[in-house]
This record gives sequence, C-alpha cells and structure tokens, in this order.
Amino acid sequence: SFPAQVVPQAPEDPLFGLARAFKADTSPSKIDLGIGAYRDENAKPWVLPVVKKADEIIRNDPEANHEYLPIAGLTSLTSKAAELVLGAGAPAIAEGRVASVQTISGTGACHLGGLFLSRFYNPYGDASKKPTVYLSNPTWANHNQIFSNVGLPIAQYPYFDKKTKGLDFVGMKKALSDAPERSVILLHACAHNPTGVDPTPAQWREIAQIMAAKGHFPFFDTAYQGFASGDLDRDASAIRLFVELGFELVVAQSFAKNFGLYGERAGCFHYVSAPSSDAAAVTTRVASQLALLQRSEISNPPIYGAKVASIVLNDPALFAEWKENLRTMSGRIIDMRKALRSKLEELGTPGTWNHITDQIGMFSFTGLSESQVAKLREEFHVYMTKNGRISMAGLNTKNIDYFARAVDKVVR
Ligand code: PMP
Repeated sequence: SFPAQVVPQAPEDPLFGLARAFKADTSPSKIDLGIGAYRDENAKPWVLPVVKKADEIIRNDPEANHEYLPIAGLTSLTSKAAELVLGAGAPAIAEGRVASVQTISGTGACHLGGLFLSRFYNPYGDASKKPTVYLSNPTWANHNQIFSNVGLPIAQYPYFDKKTKGLDFVGMKKALSDAPERSVILLHACAHNPTGVDPTPAQWREIAQIMAAKGHFPFFDTAYQGFASGDLDRDASAIRLFVELGFELVVAQSFAKNFGLYGERAGCFHYVSAPSSDAAAVTTRVASQLALLQRSEISNPPIYGAKVASIVLNDPALFAEWKENLRTMSGRIIDMRKALRSKLEELGTPGTWNHITDQIGMFSFTGLSESQVAKLREEFHVYMTKNGRISMAGLNTKNIDYFARAVDKVVR
C-alpha cells in the first residue's frame, strides 16, 4: 500500500552529509574542504562589503515592501544580468534576441531550462524521441538529477584526464562528434565544477566548430563569473564566443558565489535566439512560455537577493566595488593554490602538483584516491568529497601547513 510499500528511503545528499559529519567533529584541527562556499582567512563565511551596502539601502528605503515580484522576476536585475553574461553592448540584446527570467539561483535556472527544452525542443520531429543532454564526466552531481527529473535522457562526454589532471580534449571532441545531431551539450562557462579545468580559448573555438557542424544545442551553466579569474568579462568569454558565432543557446546563471548570496537563491535563466529576421518574435514567444512554466513551478521568484544584486549592478560605484570584492575572493583562492602547490613540492610529496595552480575557481581536483580521502578524514579530520575534490576557499594561511602535511602523509 502507499506509501509504506512503494516509497523507499532515499540516500542522503553526499555533500550535505559531509557537512553534517564535519559539524559533529570536535577536533580543533578539523578542516572543511567540502561545500563550495567562499570562506575568509578565518574560515568564516564572508558577507561581501558591497552586499552590506545594498542591504543598508534596502533597509532604509521607506517604499520597500514584501509584494510579489512579476512572474519573470525583477526586470532591473534580469536586464543587467543579461548584460553581465553577454556584454553591455551585445548585439543579441539590442536586437531583442534575449529572453531572461529570474530563477531560484543556478539550480532553478538549470531546472527551468531543462523543463523548457523537454517541453519544446523536439529536434527529431517525434515527441517520444527526446534529445539527450550530454554532461561532462565528471560534472556537478546535481546536473544528473535535474535533467533526469524533467524526463530528458542524459549521457556523458569525457572531460577530465586522470593522467594529466587536465582536460581530456581528444576524448571530449570525439564524444561531441559521435553524439547524435542536435543533442544538448551542457558546458560549464568557467571554473568547471568539480575539476577546476577549463578549455583554453582555442579549445573553445574547436568545441564550437564541432557543435555547429553537428547542430548541437549549447546549454551553458555559469555559476562562477568573476569569481574564477576576478575578471567578469574573461569568465564570460566562452558564452560570448558562442553567441558571436550565431548559436541559439541558453544560459543558467547563479549569483550564489559571485555575490555570496548562497541562501537567497538569486539567479537568472537566459534564452538567446540565433540571428534571423524573426528572431525578436521567436524570443517573445519563448519568453511567454518561460513565464507559463515559471508560474506553475514557483509563481514568483524571491525578492531579497534579487534586490541586492540589482542595486549593485545598476549603480556604477557599487558595481566597481563589487569587482573589487570579486578580486578579493578570487585573489585569496589563487594565493592558496600557489601556497598549497609550493608546500607539497617543498615536502617532496610524491606526484606532480602543477595542476593545483593550473586549475581555476572554487575547486581543485587533487587526484587523491578514495582511500586517501578516507584516511584524511579519519586520521586528520580533513573533510572533502570522495572524488578528491577540495574547495580551495576552505584553506587559509592558518591551516594550509597542516593540510599539506596531512596530504603528504597519506600519499606516501
Ligand atoms: N552549477 C554549478 C556548476 C555549480 O557549481 C553550482 C553551485 N554548486 C550551481 C550550478 C548552482 O548553485 P545555486 O543553485 O546555489 O546557484
């Protein structure tokens, strides 16, 4: 009978399970390298100073209230969010080829995009034959469930080369070439999660060429713009390249990391149509369907994080300050990469460690094995996901020596 016989116990989310285990650990030397959230030099969450200013503005606004946002969200946010991704002077925006919807952070944007494609993207003229979504191997684990949940088949393309701890470019290109035409290809715009490995600009061009030849549909996930390199334009360059090349594509954009608004769930979904004489009309129709889907899912997106991000994006002085805050976060992480690599090299830890500084963004894929990861947790109270991914933001000048020595011991 329902539910006793048919509802099995679901496994705990591994990442949030790790966070729970860390919390319960009473060792003073414990280190949390699990969840991808920025931490300051004292291993504490960091409220961006520019976000504090925006919050102040909201709190002092006598007109502020808790009314519903429109279904598609706060337009002062979504319009600036599109500029952030595509560039302020992007022809796609000027030509009315962009439809933007505020979402429940990046997760909600991936979901809305998946739902939209599952409903309307019917490349084989047969609604029972859904296009496959190709995900990098590995990818952010949630991608698998998000796209499966909307009934899209998923497959993988090779991405990480275990030997070089860099990109398996040959494997990736082959998989994209072998995939059925007009497949959906999920691409991390920058700071690939979990590997920290991104294609070079020349490699992005080759990827775009293959995808154009195969008629593949690009689905960009951008969760780390400005957080990766400290430069908003540089971190958006892959998406802009595809748009310039004339692709029709979608973008799931998160403001969790680059604004430190994790729990406020601020993000956007963008549809960009290919240039054509009826592109603006197509885009208007897409926007109307996105609004309909949004209505049945969440009715209206949340207001607070949207207001914060909108205030910052629309004020030149605050925008400049935000860039400064982004450089603080990305700079500290880059410093930690350099420090970790040089400490491991100084210790003569077996293996090569250049990948620590070659990789970019929140995460490093260390190459540590599952048993080494288990040892680090049991003997040294260091918590990371079992695939050997570390959140670089969990390291600081106070714990990095301890961590490097622990790694050295488990590797030997
Ligand atoms: N995509 C990727 C690749 C991510 O790493 C994340 C954050 N872990 C997200 C999307 C979405 O996160 P959020 O829903 O918190 O914006």
